[in-house]
Amino acid sequence: MSEEITLVWFRQDLRVTDNPALREASSRGKILPIYILDDDNAGEERMGAASRVWLHFSLKDLTRSLNNNLQVFNGNAEKIILKLVKKHHVSKVVWNRCYEPWRIKRDKKIKSKLEELSIEVESFNGSLLWEPWTIKNKQDKPYKVFTPFYRKGCLKAPSPRKPLRKPSSMRCVSEDNSLKSIDGLSLLPQSLDWHKGMCEHWEISQQGAKSYLDDFLDDGINDYKEGRNFPAKNNVSRLSPYLHFGLISPHQVWHAAQSQSVAHKVEKQVDIFCSELGWREFSYQLLFYNPELSKKNLQTKFNQFPWSKSKKNLHAWQKGLTGCPIVDAGMRELWQTGYMHNRVRMIVGSFLVKNLMLHWRDGAAWFWDCLFDADMANNNASWQWVAGCGADAAPYFRIFNPVTQGEKFDEAGEYVRRYVPELKSLPNKYIHKPWDAPKEVLSESNIKLGKDYPNIIVDLKESRQDALNAFSSLKEESK
Ligand code: FAD
Repeated sequence: MSEEITLVWFRQDLRVTDNPALREASSRGKILPIYILDDDNAGEERMGAASRVWLHFSLKDLTRSLNNNLQVFNGNAEKIILKLVKKHHVSKVVWNRCYEPWRIKRDKKIKSKLEELSIEVESFNGSLLWEPWTIKNKQDKPYKVFTPFYRKGCLKAPSPRKPLRKPSSMRCVSEDNSLKSIDGLSLLPQSLDWHKGMCEHWEISQQGAKSYLDDFLDDGINDYKEGRNFPAKNNVSRLSPYLHFGLISPHQVWHAAQSQSVAHKVEKQVDIFCSELGWREFSYQLLFYNPELSKKNLQTKFNQFPWSKSKKNLHAWQKGLTGCPIVDAGMRELWQTGYMHNRVRMIVGSFLVKNLMLHWRDGAAWFWDCLFDADMANNNASWQWVAGCGADAAPYFRIFNPVTQGEKFDEAGEYVRRYVPELKSLPNKYIHKPWDAPKEVLSESNIKLGKDYPNIIVDLKESRQDALNAFSSLKEESK
């Protein structure tokens, strides 16, 4: 009798260590490792341009760790899997769970089709520290506010499991065409090579994820609590795209951080860092219980908000040409590196929805296309938080002033100068408000406002007041 074959379907778990589905498959005999680019089922939620670039390099890295045996497909996952199980006489199909509503719907359907064919199916938790449905309040309801969700829910639940080792042997159904078929997915831009500069900022591999984590735990973590607010400092991990695509698991990150805590007496710093991983869990539980998170305001009174439709302002924001230095620096960091520091994401977000009064979904869409870590749960939950319409959102009237934010968190203008070099010679006093600089200062710094750098596109004070007026006119919607 021929040997049992288990199909292991990689999705957002592009790694061989701490991969529960891969371990199960490898323990049973031969494995058929596959990846499917399923734009058919994703529809409007299909990956953005930057995510595709990240995926391209992650798949290349994954197939190398499988001796070039990853089989890659493009199309409807259901059809592809049903064909493969027949062709290879597969006896079991395994995967690690994903939580996007379209994936949950698709996976349920595939599971039942396979079971009809008497093929065993098993799914595992490879991407979250706590399954969203396991964290409930005393009334057995999902939490709506982060702090009790994390402190009373997650931290009182069983601790996240320890990471699993890489399987000792992985015997694959052989396929020597893997690298070529990854190219065949056409994930990289066809005509332009804008992605090349972005990729120089990263090492897109499982080893790269490990190095980022090690470097962060060696250094950045020591002043994470304070330093994480300063975009020019190296106090954040930059692990978000690795976590999104699963080149590293949250379990690996969590346990590595926890061991550091005791060994190096940085308990407080580690506690804050782990609570940021907790925010990721919170976003996933929001998405799980609010499958329309990307489309609908969690607070329905925002449905009547008089959003602006100005394409001109949206375009200026996207390109980093608003004339507000910290906003432009953030938008250009995003464009150049596929990443933006969290503090600056909040500043550019507030500027878009409150000063420009553009819809948070416009911002979320741009981030979705440009971020390497574009993540349906984190992106939409965070945008709703910034806009004030989410669960546990910042109160609407808390409008970030980009000038004071810049002066506080980028005092010497290091971050602004890095991404907005036109302003590099401006003295610190004016780096966040070039419009206040006297003529002589501007001319000594070689800047003509409106020519070398734009005049600010909105009056910060007036637009703040307009946003507050619009907000106070909102009424609760009757249910
Ligand atoms: P670190 O500070 O090192 O944190 C470690 C990890 O914790 C991160 O990698 C991330 O997985 C998680 N984390 C940290 N902060 C948050 C947070 N506020 N919410 C949820 N998880 C968090 N994050 C994404 O991963 N994808 C997105 O698409 C995304 N969109 C965002 C949009 C807006 C408007 C805002 C304000 C935030 C968004 N975030 C998103 C959250 C956060 O900005 C990033 O996770 C963080 O900046 C990643 O950098 P890091 O890995 O260095 O974070």
